[in-house]
Amino acid sequence: MQVDQVKKQLKALEAEVNSESDSGFVRIEFEQQSEITKNMSFTGGSGRIYVKPFTRLNKYEIALAGTAIEMYSFMRDLCGAECAGENHRGKTHPEPFWRVDDFEIVKKAVYHYARKPGTTRLAIETPVPQAMSEAPENADRETLVSWLAENERRASTLPESELFRRAAMSDAVARKVTLTGTAFIRNSYVAASAKKLANGVCDLCKEEAPFLSVNNEPYLESHHVEWLSHGGVDSIDNVVALCPNCHRKMHIRNDEADRNILIGRIGGRNY
Ligand SMILES: [Zn+2]
Ligand SMILES: [Zn+2]
Repeated sequence: MQVDQVKKQLKALEAEVNSESDSGFVRIEFEQQSEITKNMSFTGGSGRIYVKPFTRLNKYEIALAGTAIEMYSFMRDLCGAECAGENHRGKTHPEPFWRVDDFEIVKKAVYHYARKPGTTRLAIETPVPQAMSEAPENADRETLVSWLAENERRASTLPESELFRRAAMSDAVARKVTLTGTAFIRNSYVAASAKKLANGVCDLCKEEAPFLSVNNEPYLESHHVEWLSHGGVDSIDNVVALCPNCHRKMHIRNDEADRNILIGRIGGRNY
């Protein structure tokens, strides 16, 4: 998480809040106190709310200064925890802070900070981003796939009501990114041979292929026991034919017991 990246996010948030300044929110002002300490804040509401990147843990730190401390219980409910610590501890005006990894929480905090006095917190409905962290830029396919999986895992830990609310607020248009990176051109003879040798039966579960392909062949997928991306070779001694379920299982779990079954299957082939 880069300081100037966070600065960009906060400037955008400032503009967003201010565009709604006649509908229950005061105008807020972004300030960058110090590039060295990464301190950035908003004024305009009661007191001051600091947001700074906590780069080591890739989190945002939100701190309440001055009369913004009135937001303490809101922040506690929002983050589900008492403050993680206090800046200026022991001084006359300690500033409680929370560290969060979701910019959505920063947004909610700033919107709450900017609400006009007398506005209830329930009136605040902030737009929800597609994902819980910024998508990697110029990623290769593998990086993107694991980023998507991690986002989904984190989404699944939300309380159901919040999860369903966010799902309902989806803008229904999946964003496209351009991927970089390389792909392996697998040997078609090797793949076709593995399927012939399997004879319509999955090399792992030994069940028949679940359906026929459009060419009326039992549908199986070729799989490299030692993955190509991990340095495995593209030869018949490393390739098996799996039903889609087992293939997915190998890519999700890659259990040693299953790998051993497949290695045994390769060793037992007669051709
Ligand atoms: Zn199977
Ligand atoms: Zn595979």
